[in-house]
Amino acid sequence: MKTQPQQPAKDADSGIQGLNLTDAFTQALPGKPLPADCNHQQEHIIWSEVQPAVPSAPTLIAWSADMEKRLGLNIQGTPDASARFFTGSEVAAGSTPYAMRYGGHQFGNWAGQLGDGRAIALGEIQDREGQHWTLQLKGAGQTPYSRQGDGFAVLRSSVREYLCSEAMHNLGIPTTRSLTLCLTGDSVDRDVFYDGNVQAEQGAILCRAAHSFVRFGNFEIHAAHHEHDELKALADHVITRDYPHLGKPGPDVYQQWFQEILQRTAQLMAHWQRVGFVHAVMNTDNMSILGHTIDYGPYGWLEEYDPRWTPNFVDRQNRRYSFGNQPQIGLWNLYRLANAILPLFDNNTKPLEEVLETYNDYYDNIWNNTVAAKLGITDPQPADKALYNSLWETLELTATDYTLFFRKLAQIEAAGGQEKPTDMLAVISDAFYDSKPLDDTTIEAFNTWLGQWAARVADIDPSKRTKLMNSTNPKYVLRNYMALQAIDAAEQGDYSVIEELMAVLQNPYSEQPEFEKYASRRPEWATQRPGCTMLTCSS
Ligand code: AMP
Ligand code: MG
Repeated sequence: MKTQPQQPAKDADSGIQGLNLTDAFTQALPGKPLPADCNHQQEHIIWSEVQPAVPSAPTLIAWSADMEKRLGLNIQGTPDASARFFTGSEVAAGSTPYAMRYGGHQFGNWAGQLGDGRAIALGEIQDREGQHWTLQLKGAGQTPYSRQGDGFAVLRSSVREYLCSEAMHNLGIPTTRSLTLCLTGDSVDRDVFYDGNVQAEQGAILCRAAHSFVRFGNFEIHAAHHEHDELKALADHVITRDYPHLGKPGPDVYQQWFQEILQRTAQLMAHWQRVGFVHAVMNTDNMSILGHTIDYGPYGWLEEYDPRWTPNFVDRQNRRYSFGNQPQIGLWNLYRLANAILPLFDNNTKPLEEVLETYNDYYDNIWNNTVAAKLGITDPQPADKALYNSLWETLELTATDYTLFFRKLAQIEAAGGQEKPTDMLAVISDAFYDSKPLDDTTIEAFNTWLGQWAARVADIDPSKRTKLMNSTNPKYVLRNYMALQAIDAAEQGDYSVIEELMAVLQNPYSEQPEFEKYASRRPEWATQRPGCTMLTCSS
């Protein structure tokens, strides 16, 4: 994803050592300069210039050392200048901060124009390898797309996104990244459970980074308004900048591009299912054109295995975005993108249908290989599917922790399949939530499955098997209660839990005996606490 030669971009001096912003997006594509019109439908533009709100007391509270290094910045050495820059308090001379215009299908329905209602991009920078990154402030005030919103973000949701983006990256899953987390010094009113109970919370701004923040919804808005020139300009820009290996945009390249978007989306879904991540708001405006995880809202990590689980309070009736639905929702969203980019194909649906028809086989293939790896099967066979299917049925018989189950399974020394199923069951019993003994039917089902699994892996070199399992199944994930502990402390001005979690989640597949407490089942206190098992979009 190297930056392509382009029209000369103006460099903007940010005052932060090593940070030179360029305006590749706003220079290449049509937009609306200041002064911004507030809250009305925009036409024929891809972005609008915006001025971030001025926070009263910007303070840097956390930053990703990994991203700092990657981008060649010195944030640690200049906390005050960083706080000003990464809250939009000081905008670099010569830069054009902007909000993007996009639409989206929300919970299955076309929602019209949405756009960055509280995200403001500052411009692009290059990392040490020549890759380009857009820096975006989330929560820096109103934009022409804010609709009824205030454009701000609270500390609670900003901590969640800050931690989870970096955790996701360390799990090896494509995602937007976190760079800095700052307080604004201002308070923000939020009604967390939409029940009239409004509370003042601390305002915060996350500076996040991505090769591109373009979403499926960016294309949908132009298609909905018959803005074919803008649609094509945006597609060509994304292909040239972020899919340069496909070559010069044209009819064949558009089809290959869509094929690659489809494959990246399917891969992302398989990754999420592998680690038990539930995005919970898979609207088309939250789908990255790069196949990256984007927009961490009321997401959650599966604890008890249950395909119907969603952490999103507002989706608890229909469960559209539940764990088990994610891969098919990925396809549903790709259909919406296909409809949006149809004008690039002179309205010929065939090339797009050809691609869409490949999704299910492509996804099933990756997913079967993923499950094989989760189980330590180094030579997957079609016949293994029966073992996978019976696993899911068995796990649902009692509340079984998704993360712990697979790590415990890897501890079984199944050499020759000679272990007694009862002994194997004892090894995995840490993954069970119910404090009462299992009933006989459940014990029998687990023993049967464990016996079949042990027989299947009997001929596989135990060290190879364990290595495969422990590099596929994380030991540490950002359980909801962990994020909540970081938030509780941060709200009291203690940022040490954020730092500790960043450290643990940096090596999610490794044994870290000093952090063993984070590798156990969700504690009892967290079961009923709001914000642990049920979240809302209020952020
Ligand atoms: P989300 O559910 O966070 O993906 O947001 C959906 C839409 O609402 C996007 O257009 C967001 O920019 C917008 N939005 C969410 N929160 C706010 C806010 N506090 N102020 C303005 N716009 C917002
Ligand atoms: Mg969003």
